[in-house]
Amino acid sequence: NRSDVHYFGAGPAPLPTAVLEKATQVILNYKDKGIGLFEISHRSPEANEVLADAKQALATLLDIPDDYKVLFLQSGGSGEFSATVYNLVAIWVEKKRAKIAEEVGDDKDEVLRRLRKIVDEELKLDYLVTGSWSLKASQEATRLVGAKHVNVAIDARKANNGKFGIIPPESEWGLTPRTTVGGPALVYFCDNETVDGVEFPAFPSSLEGDDAPLVCADMSSNFISRKVDVRKYAVIFGGAQKNIGNTGIAIVILRKSLLPPHSTPASPDLLRELRLPVGPIVLDYPTIAKNNSLYNTLPIFDVWVAGQVMSALVNTYGIKKISGQEEISNEKARLIYETLDKYPNVYRVVPDKAVRSRMNICFRVSGGDADKEKAFLAGAEKKGLLGLKGHRSVGGIRVSNCKCTYNNLLYYRCFCFTTV
Ligand code: PMP
Repeated sequence: NRSDVHYFGAGPAPLPTAVLEKATQVILNYKDKGIGLFEISHRSPEANEVLADAKQALATLLDIPDDYKVLFLQSGGSGEFSATVYNLVAIWVEKKRAKIAEEVGDDKDEVLRRLRKIVDEELKLDYLVTGSWSLKASQEATRLVGAKHVNVAIDARKANNGKFGIIPPESEWGLTPRTTVGGPALVYFCDNETVDGVEFPAFPSSLEGDDAPLVCADMSSNFISRKVDVRKYAVIFGGAQKNIGNTGIAIVILRKSLLPPHSTPASPDLLRELRLPVGPIVLDYPTIAKNNSLYNTLPIFDVWVAGQVMSALVNTYGIKKISGQEEISNEKARLIYETLDKYPNVYRVVPDKAVRSRMNICFRVSGGDADKEKAFLAGAEKKGLLGLKGHRSVGGIRVSNCKCTYNNLLYYRCFCFTTV
């Protein structure tokens, strides 16, 4: 029975039971139409309303300014590793092309010759690699544009015995200078590393300022868990299955100035000339934006689930917006870390204290003794505490705080008690 277990998996993660109960109804019969949400056209007025409501709830929660656009895609989080590269490289290239054309006029061969040189020497994508997911994103960028164009501004493992678990001080980051060539095409980081339990405590100050680079952040596992100053980002994205809804959609919050008519991406022909990748149309932000996320068949049911979860948060917290959720997330994380820290002979939290994730609490039992960790998991399971096994790549134990409001605080007290 749902009420007998408390599931702490990272994602897919638990959904509010009330939303699931309502979901079973809307699957069968949506708003008395006689057909359900799986069946209704994504271009129907009903679907449009679902889309608008979900967008509105997200905009309310995160105070998304008018000069940002919310997109829904079927890309998953990983698809956005690629989408950010395709889209922002194309914008960078077109800006350079336009500038060269201003200087040399109509001589297309000369424009191309100069552009090739600039791309060759100056195109850089900066990655802050602080855990497995930003590593994967940087690897995808390398696969798409080549290692020479990918600047790993930090690899947190280097200063931590080959393991993730810290974020080096900003003074040590090797970001592409902004001044030389108008900066990198993007600076990418993963706000919360789900596998390694590392979360950026705050927005990095070296990415701020009037000439700030285009910052892309993966918020898959801490989306809507704290206040975010959206204006500091060019792109925020996340798969819905952890904190917002079920598997099936990714949500992108995109600065409108990156869309036509403000920005034009380089044409596919030009990108091919420059041996840069041309992305699939379903990851093309201008196309998705122009079509209100309905360029192709969007899974409207998945959007509905996300919308229900977010609307419930809007109703719960009212004018507090996301800070209500933030308080609860912080409190749950505090309860667990406090318990773990109380028994240093038994538990060891994996990441450094300064960057401990509020969302994915990763720790070892008895120095990582395999039998003891097995026993811990078996004991927890007997008490109905499930999904605590760490990611297969790192082992250990992981308590995920996803869908935070709905794993209520009582469960966490119960978890803390159990562990001692
Ligand atoms: N980014 C982060 C931070 C994640 O935790 C995950 C999924 N675990 C992904 C990206 C990949 O998401 P998806 O499986 O939807 O591609």
